[in-house]
Amino acid sequence: MNASSRPDRWPPHWPDVTDPLVLAAIAAVPRHLFVPPQHREAAYEDIPLPIGHGQTISQPYIVALMTQALRLTRASRVLEIGAGSGYQAAVLAHITPHVWSVETLPELARAAEERLHGLGYPVQIKTGDGRLGWPEHAPYDAIIVTAASPDVPPALAAQLGDGGRLVIPVGETIWKQTLWLLVKTRGKLRREFLGEVRFVPLVGSPASATAEEDVALAEIRRELDELFR
Ligand code: SAH
Repeated sequence: MNASSRPDRWPPHWPDVTDPLVLAAIAAVPRHLFVPPQHREAAYEDIPLPIGHGQTISQPYIVALMTQALRLTRASRVLEIGAGSGYQAAVLAHITPHVWSVETLPELARAAEERLHGLGYPVQIKTGDGRLGWPEHAPYDAIIVTAASPDVPPALAAQLGDGGRLVIPVGETIWKQTLWLLVKTRGKLRREFLGEVRFVPLVGSPASATAEEDVALAEIRRELDELFR
């Protein structure tokens, strides 16, 4: 296979990924442009790959599964936490033009934004702690966290709009993480188990995001604690 061309069958057949918008997005986004040159040959294998700084671009199947769980439409407003290479953001932006992403490493944030804009995806990326979300553009219809967190950051749950969907891998170690979907309906959260996963960790301590937590956030934290007890 030529390093820059997709295999005949891309995406591969994933029995549980059926959303046509998601499948079209995966088919369209050139994943080889999101991986370092030395890994380009493997860009269309269904595996995670290193992108430098100890980070990874997720496995395409997991990207598809998480995106599908968000039930996006062309009008959805989406927040991603952990831009990394920008690949997941591109898949989101192929579906809706309203995508924001927060990335903690400035070099990755800059490179990802440049790459996305070069491909015509109008994603805005800011450098910062994604545990705090991006309140200026809230409420979101969907939030996707692409690094594993020991808890669900309350600020993210708070920034979900009514009917909003949040997908997040939860776990303390890389060996034990579970992928959850949270749905907010009339202010109330429910959770749904999506599967077992392995992600790089979301950095920053839960405490650092709570120092200035207000009453509303403290309440959501209690609700989340109850949900994940
Ligand atoms: N979605 C990316 C892969 C993400 S890897 C892609 O498609 O390529 C996880 C990313 O989360 C890394 O880039 C890491 O730097 C970032 N990250 C870790 N902790 C974070 C935090 N607290 N806030 C924002 N980003 C964070």
